[in-house]
Amino acid sequence: MSVTSAVPEEILQDTYLIQGLMVAAKDAALYHGVLMRTVEDPNSSEMINYAPFSLFPSPVPENLFKEAMDVQKDFNLLIDRVSQDQEFLTKALESTIRVDDFTAHLFEIYKSVRDEGIRQNIILGINRSDYMFHNGQNDKPTLKQIEINTIAASFAGLGSRIPDIHRHVFQVWGKPEEAAKILKCEAIYRITDGIAKAWRMYGSEKAVIVFVVENVARNIFDQRCLEMELWRRFIIIINVSLVLICRDGYEVAVAYLRTGYGPDDYPSLEDWNGRLLLERSRAIKCPDIATHLVGTKKVQQELTRPGVLEKFLYDNPEAVERIRATFVGLYSFDEGEEGDKVVAMAMAEPEHFVLKPQREGGGNNSFGEELKQLLGSLKDSPERSAYILMEKVTPLPVVNYLVHPGVPPKLTECVTELGIFGVYIRRCGNMVINDCSGHLLRTKSTEFADGGVAAGVAVLDSPYLV
Ligand code: ADP
Ligand code: MG
Ligand code: MG
Repeated sequence: MSVTSAVPEEILQDTYLIQGLMVAAKDAALYHGVLMRTVEDPNSSEMINYAPFSLFPSPVPENLFKEAMDVQKDFNLLIDRVSQDQEFLTKALESTIRVDDFTAHLFEIYKSVRDEGIRQNIILGINRSDYMFHNGQNDKPTLKQIEINTIAASFAGLGSRIPDIHRHVFQVWGKPEEAAKILKCEAIYRITDGIAKAWRMYGSEKAVIVFVVENVARNIFDQRCLEMELWRRFIIIINVSLVLICRDGYEVAVAYLRTGYGPDDYPSLEDWNGRLLLERSRAIKCPDIATHLVGTKKVQQELTRPGVLEKFLYDNPEAVERIRATFVGLYSFDEGEEGDKVVAMAMAEPEHFVLKPQREGGGNNSFGEELKQLLGSLKDSPERSAYILMEKVTPLPVVNYLVHPGVPPKLTECVTELGIFGVYIRRCGNMVINDCSGHLLRTKSTEFADGGVAAGVAVLDSPYLV
């Protein structure tokens, strides 16, 4: 075994074996329900296929996996505390909302529900902190955070089933010992535990859980995993779009958002009104609008400023250390000399940075030459404050077979991204639950700098600890 693959080179090159394993893996994916609707028919379950996945698990350094798990509760606490600091959020987002209409609209809702007074003192947080293993100077990879998702963080459902595929592939290949080494993933159960607990804390048997769903729902089976687990506990789940949220007469205990994170999720004013109504309601929100805003790239960048972590985690200096160790350089383009310097730095060495707008879901960032062009056109305008600059993380590639429907097997050089789920519940000032709730591994060809599973670029994977 090498550091770049969970299986030996001669196996990767054995095309006859690989073809057999591909057949076994695809059937295992379908059997275990690792499913996705098709691009052609994203709202129908008449014709479905398997969700893209890797044939083998990918190697992940055990110490970094542990580090990521160990820092998750610190991140939960940090996010939750930041979400309660109106002054900080206002200041952090001030320059961005002047030029980014989408974030401005979210902030407007945040501001009005704050001014009116919060009607629900229980908060449910489900987030996913994503990392890559940076290959620094001394050849020892380090854990570096890419971002933290505080709204609609997905793939706990399908991701929890990938180990079943990988275990089967190893068994068919004739390696029961390796098969036994494959990590289980319990994210789906931990997250449903959190949602169910919030539902109980609301305190009404009759109240339902609402899943606020996307208008185009290709990744529906990942969401169904959560729903089915909750139905098993005799909790009623209703799917509603943002537009229709006002029309139902149910008492809602928990509103769990699977949508609402991008401009496309609000095609009309009615969608915005739906979000406002939801935020004003007595339902426990996952997330509330404040926590949603904490997940913006702009806030991520503001958290790296000296003294900010210390301010929020004043009672836990070790947590500050653990969190800061995962940060890379993040820079603001705010007006003035500081911002000008950041522009100059990025223009001089665009290959070392990533330019990020306040958007989610993959495919929005700029790298290299494209970064240079875009920043070149923005650099003298206030519009540049809609973006942040991030140091580029450069992981060592791994090799694997990426299994996409209809695509012949091809050995591919890839990079992996590890996600750790966090679940917490706060009532008034007290953390009732603060849980590190399992992992997700996604892998994509080094051909692509950006793009997620939904975009057809990355695949679902599972870690093989080395
Ligand atoms: P999104 O919210 O759209 O998922 P991300 O910050 O996760 O935004 O960026 C999308 C993708 O871009 C990541 O999955 C990763 O592949 C790549 N990426 C983002 N930031 C970096 C970085 N600092 N270094 C290297 N790649 C990055
Ligand atoms: Mg994101
Ligand atoms: Mg991401």
